[in-house]
Amino acid sequence: MSRLRRPNAGWLLALVALLVVPTVMGVGQFGAGTAMASAMTTAGSLATSSGPSPSITAAASLDSSGSIGPSAPAASPIPSDSSLPSPSDGPLASAPPTADGVVPGAVNATSMALTAEYDATVRLNFGTRSFQVASTMTITNTAAEAIDRLELNTIAARLGRMTVTLARSDGRAVTATVKDQTITVPLGGILQPGGRVVVRIDYRATLRSGLAGSNWLFTRVNGILEAHRWLPWISRATPFNRPNHGDPFVTPVSPRVRVTIVSDRVIRWATTGEQVGGTGTTKVFEARNVRDFAIAGAPDYRLTSATVGSVTIHVWGRPGFATAAVMAAAKSALARQAALLGPYPYRTYDLAQTAGGYGMESPGLTWIPGGAGSIAYLVAHETAHQWFYGVVGNDQARQPYADEAAADFIARYTLNLRRSSRCATARLDLNIYQYSNTCYYETIYIQGGNFLDDTRRKMGNPPFWAGIRDYLAANRFKITTTKSLLDTLDARTPLNLVPRYEPRFPSLY
Ligand SMILES: [Zn+2]
Repeated sequence: MSRLRRPNAGWLLALVALLVVPTVMGVGQFGAGTAMASAMTTAGSLATSSGPSPSITAAASLDSSGSIGPSAPAASPIPSDSSLPSPSDGPLASAPPTADGVVPGAVNATSMALTAEYDATVRLNFGTRSFQVASTMTITNTAAEAIDRLELNTIAARLGRMTVTLARSDGRAVTATVKDQTITVPLGGILQPGGRVVVRIDYRATLRSGLAGSNWLFTRVNGILEAHRWLPWISRATPFNRPNHGDPFVTPVSPRVRVTIVSDRVIRWATTGEQVGGTGTTKVFEARNVRDFAIAGAPDYRLTSATVGSVTIHVWGRPGFATAAVMAAAKSALARQAALLGPYPYRTYDLAQTAGGYGMESPGLTWIPGGAGSIAYLVAHETAHQWFYGVVGNDQARQPYADEAAADFIARYTLNLRRSSRCATARLDLNIYQYSNTCYYETIYIQGGNFLDDTRRKMGNPPFWAGIRDYLAANRFKITTTKSLLDTLDARTPLNLVPRYEPRFPSLY
C-alpha cells in the first residue's frame, strides 16, 4: 500500500497545510503533484491526533515451515508461535500419512503451509451492494504436521457485516466461527500431512458505501465497486485494527484461483486473474500463483492496453481518469523494475481506477485512486509490490519492513526520489500495530527504504542487486521474513553488515 492519496474532502485541509507548512513544497526532487499529495498527507496529520499506540509488544514470527502450530486463541492480539510442540508430540507422530481426507481425532492445530485451490462464485448487486460468496477450496496439507482447523482471512468479516451461510468439510456440515477478520473452520477431524480435503464456505455481506477508515477496501461508491481480500483465504488469526494504514494480512500463494462473478448489470472488471469465459453479467476469471484475488469494476470503465516485453498492461479507468499518465508510469516501472529484479511473474498487469482510499497492491492488479497525485511514484511503489509481496510474500502485519521498505526503496531508487524522513530515527523491526499513524510511513517506508539504499551504497551495486535477486529466487511464491532479506544481502558481501543491522532490528540481531 502507499500512504499517498487524495482524500475526497481534503482540499480545505490541503490549503491549510500549504499555508502552514510551506516546507512541504520545498522538497526539490518532487514534481508539483507529489508536493500536493505530500501536503495532503500533512493535512491528514494535522487533523489526526497521534495518540499512543496500543500496548502490543508480542513480536510473533513465522517458523521456517510456515506452521502455526497448536495455539489457543491468544490472550495477546498477536498470536505467538512459542507454543509450538516438539515434532514428537501428539497423535500425528505415530500415524502414517494419508491422502484421503480427514480422519477422526483432534490436534488443536492449523497451518499456513497448505496448498489451496479456490473456486468461488460471487453474486453481487451493484445497486444494493449485496455481495454473496460461495467458495470451494481444495486443500492439501503440505505442512509437516497434522491440522484440524483452518483460519481463513476475509475483510468481509470486518467491513461487510458478514454472515457465514454454509460451512462444509469433506462433505459434512461443520460449525465455523468468526472472530475479527478470521473465519475458523474445524475440519471435523485430522488432516494428516499429504492429506487432501474439500472445504466449502459461503457467506453473504454488504459492501460499504464510503471510503472512511478501511472502508475503501470493500465498497461501492463513486461509480466503482472494489473488493480487496474478500475471498476467505488460508491465513492465521491476525488483528484487523491498527493505528495506521498498514496491511493486516498474511496469505500463502495458491496455485490456482477461479472466480465467477455474477452481477446485476454488465460491469467491466479489473481482477487479479484473466478472463477465461463468460459474457454479459456472468464472467469467469482465473489466476495462478497468487496470494489474493482482488476485483474492481465499473459499468463505464474504459480499457487501454499496451505491452512491455511479453507482458500486457491494462489500465481501467472511468471517463476523466488519468489513464495516459498511469499507463506511462506503469510501462516505465515494469521495464525498470524487471531489469533490476527479474521478470514480472504474470502475463498481464492490470491497473484500475478505484473510488478513493490509497494505492493498493494485489497480485497482477494495482489499485490507483481516482484523482491521485504523484502518479509516477504511486504506480512505481505498487508495481514493486509485484515482487515484494507478490513473488516473495511476508507477514505484512508482523513484518511490514519486508514488503513496504523494499517496495518503496525500489520505487524511489528507480525514480530518483530519495528523501529524508520526517520522523525521528526508529527501529524497523516492529509490527504494524506498533507504529503510530504519523510515523508509520516515515519510518517503515522512508527510513526503511533509505536503510536499504545505504546498504546498497556500502555493498556496491553488483553484489547488492545480486543479493536482492538471490532473495527473490530463493523465496519465490513463499512467505519469508525481514531477517531473510537482510541475511541474504549480508551473504553477498565480504563486509559484515550485522553491526549496521543491530540498532535498527534489535529483535533480529
Ligand atoms: Zn506499499
